[in-house]
Amino acid sequence: MSEIKTIAVVGAGTMGNGIAQISAQMGAKVILRDIKDEFVERGIANIDRFLQKGVDKGKLSAEQKDEVMGRISGTTDMGALAEADFVIEAVIEDLDLKKSVYGELDEVTRPEVILATNTSSMSITEIAAATKRPDKVVGMHFFNPVPLMRLVEIIRGFSTSDETVAITAELSQRMGKETVEVKVDSPGFVVNRLMMPHMIEAVKLLEEGVASIEDIDKAVKLGLNYPMGPFELMDFSGIDIFKFVADYFYKELNKEQKWVAPLTLKNQVRAGLLGRKTGKGWYDYSK
Ligand code: NAD
Repeated sequence: MSEIKTIAVVGAGTMGNGIAQISAQMGAKVILRDIKDEFVERGIANIDRFLQKGVDKGKLSAEQKDEVMGRISGTTDMGALAEADFVIEAVIEDLDLKKSVYGELDEVTRPEVILATNTSSMSITEIAAATKRPDKVVGMHFFNPVPLMRLVEIIRGFSTSDETVAITAELSQRMGKETVEVKVDSPGFVVNRLMMPHMIEAVKLLEEGVASIEDIDKAVKLGLNYPMGPFELMDFSGIDIFKFVADYFYKELNKEQKWVAPLTLKNQVRAGLLGRKTGKGWYDYSK
């Protein structure tokens, strides 16, 4: 595998623009692809805004910011990805969409190029099956916000080669991240599998009247030393995602009762109180 000089990031949303930013900060040339010019422009503007805050705080110089921005180009043309040495995909969490994107990526990129997916829940093996290079498809799971969160989970699909895992881990480390290897392509990998019971129990505690939203968040922050309480974290990430993941785990992990989404979580989603996305979340429900 030749040196990774050019990284293509597919999807310029929340995760894609963060991944593009840290790739460019590492020194790579970055091609950021989305389906509409306005989405590409919004992604690049977000990166600019994030780096400008760094300049304002004296963490980097205006010249350094310009250098990083100068390494990023945006496009809506899939063909522009032909020069990529490594691809990181961060399109929306929809399996059919991901499969069609991987079919296209398989056509436009060189056969030796690794295709890494940032999926939070989908099967790497199933995504890889949409290509003729399943040994070169791997999970590369970043966390939000990408420039600040230190972990990347590297997930092995059924056919992912040792070389693909090693190259992806090394690249993540060059981006300044710590890595863990997820040896089996299993729903939720490590972090989300551990996080979901915590979220579900928090909602059950609320339903049982054991403590208020405020006190559950406070207890977790001060008693477990987590930076955010479960309700704050759901508001930050979007509450519907947790309902989606609970339903997905229930389906994929033997329909165990422990994964059933609590009624209050379902109602919160039905009421459209989705946290960050709608501006109203758990703290509004409680009032
Ligand atoms: P998002 O909705 O913010 O961004 C997705 C982007 O993909 C959109 O801009 C959309 O226009 C674009 N897109 C759709 N089809 C495309 C195509 N064919 N080609 C190129 N771009 C296309 O979503 P997000 O939160 O950035 O999530 C992206 C992925 O990262 C998902 O798989 C998600 O599960 C995963 N993820 C999200 C988080 C999180 O906290 N948001 C954390 C870890 C992983």
